[in-house]
Amino acid sequence: MSNPTIAIVGSGPIGSTYARVLLEQVPNARVVMFEAGPQLTDVPGESVRNIPDPAEKARAREMSQGPQAGAYRESLGIPAGTVTEGMFTARQGTHLLDFGGAGSAHALSFPAAAAATNVGGQGAHWTCATPSPAFSEKLPFIADDEWDGLIEDAKQLLHVHSAAFADSKVGEAIRSLLDEEFGAELPDGYGVGTLPVAGDPQPDGSVRWAGADVVLGPLIDKDNPLSKQFELRYLTLVRRVELDGQRVTGVTVQDLRTGEASFVAADIVVVAADAFRSPQLLWASGVRPQALGHYLTEHPVVISTVALDAEKMGRFATDEDLKVELARRALNSADPVAAVNRIPFSEPEHPFSVQVMYTETTPFPMEPGTPYSENRWGYVNMGYGLRKHPRFEDAVTFDENEPDYRGFPNMTIDYALTEREETEIAQATERLRRAGKALGVFVAEPRLMPNGSSLHYQGTLRMGATDDGTSVADPWSKVWGYENLVVGGNALIPTATAMNPTLMSVAIAVRGARKVAEELGS
Ligand code: FAD
Repeated sequence: MSNPTIAIVGSGPIGSTYARVLLEQVPNARVVMFEAGPQLTDVPGESVRNIPDPAEKARAREMSQGPQAGAYRESLGIPAGTVTEGMFTARQGTHLLDFGGAGSAHALSFPAAAAATNVGGQGAHWTCATPSPAFSEKLPFIADDEWDGLIEDAKQLLHVHSAAFADSKVGEAIRSLLDEEFGAELPDGYGVGTLPVAGDPQPDGSVRWAGADVVLGPLIDKDNPLSKQFELRYLTLVRRVELDGQRVTGVTVQDLRTGEASFVAADIVVVAADAFRSPQLLWASGVRPQALGHYLTEHPVVISTVALDAEKMGRFATDEDLKVELARRALNSADPVAAVNRIPFSEPEHPFSVQVMYTETTPFPMEPGTPYSENRWGYVNMGYGLRKHPRFEDAVTFDENEPDYRGFPNMTIDYALTEREETEIAQATERLRRAGKALGVFVAEPRLMPNGSSLHYQGTLRMGATDDGTSVADPWSKVWGYENLVVGGNALIPTATAMNPTLMSVAIAVRGARKVAEELGS
């Protein structure tokens, strides 16, 4: 096909993967990416964690908070009144789906469900943990050889480093203590280690965190010819994917600054607008496979904060090591994370993905004078991520008789943990207690976070090997029955996983984009 046009809905890491891979493989294509939210940084899609000025960082986060963006929302002329109510608040940079105002979603059983609305999507706010899926987390219908190659390509796109902060002696001491406690129970190759993260280590020991910017790469480099083929339209909401029978003809978009709607013709449409808004857009467009919105999974998360014990740490690190660490930290006070360790998922020994973030301060304020409010060795925030086993009844459904705050068919989320998850949650809590004792003293006891807290929403556009009604997309991410409609994101993951999902979703997107490129080429 000569000079095909590809429309991409959503500017997060997955939409960006499609843009990059497609333009590198089909350089005569034109890619138009639509993003409902604003651009936060001069470099499109950059992680807000790289913004050194705290006020600027706070502003960028607020700008991403869609209906809950306060002053920014008002500056766009959207009336006030849509405020966050109740006991749940969203993580900075994100907004709750069930925010309690007019047009809010209904998510009583999944109350912490949240999204980010900005260039770069959630990828401008993420923690950048990028472990690879293993054992039954992987897709059963992609052969290991191919899968390993896709994961390597995804790592390159996201600038993944497996040994960030590896030279931190404090980080190493934490690993040694955890290894003493758990090492003998873990299989070879799946023991305590550093957590791979997406970002580029800097000469001063800090990390420049990766966002959609690094995935877009040459597409946002004005000196690169590919940038001429790429257009990012932010504050532009895709209202509908337009169809002619089983073929997509383009998208109807609305400029949120002027309110004006227009049709943009496209040869291929890629919907990568997150695990709730992608199925919502498909449903609103009349694309309604049986599995759409169903089989919702996430990661139940058990977390705690521990003050590191001087005596325990002193067995593996010296006072001098701590001084070096603190001096390095002082160079980059804007970023509290100093070392990231993990215990990966393994089967059957350890069906959890454990993240151990070493920080100088607790993530919550502590009254001066309370025990451990000052702790020279610092703290770790530890989280056990667990599996949720897919069930049809865990779902987001849509109601065209009740418009949401954007005028889309409103969402209701139904979700429940079963005995299977409850058993693993109890096991994870017990292990978290052991980990805490091995490292120091709890300043926040282990607790299960409310449903939706993981921000890793999966399954609502799940992939499958055959079109048997239990999946939305084929193994190349194309919606069953539609020749030029492609979907992307964590929503495609059909398996029960414990690991952070973005690397896996980028790998799936690389495969999907290559298939589209191959078909455009022929
Ligand atoms: P998103 O990044 O959500 O982007 C979707 C975009 O689509 C949004 O910008 C949205 O505004 C836009 N959009 C929606 N509807 C429309 C429409 N109709 N028209 C136009 N645009 C639309 N994952 C990990 O793997 N590791 C981590 O450590 C990790 N930590 C996280 C920490 C935080 C605080 C957050 C918020 C997320 C974290 N995640 C993590 C999740 C990770 O960010 C997501 O997996 C990733 O961003 C998903 O990419 P995506 O492109 O599919 O969707």
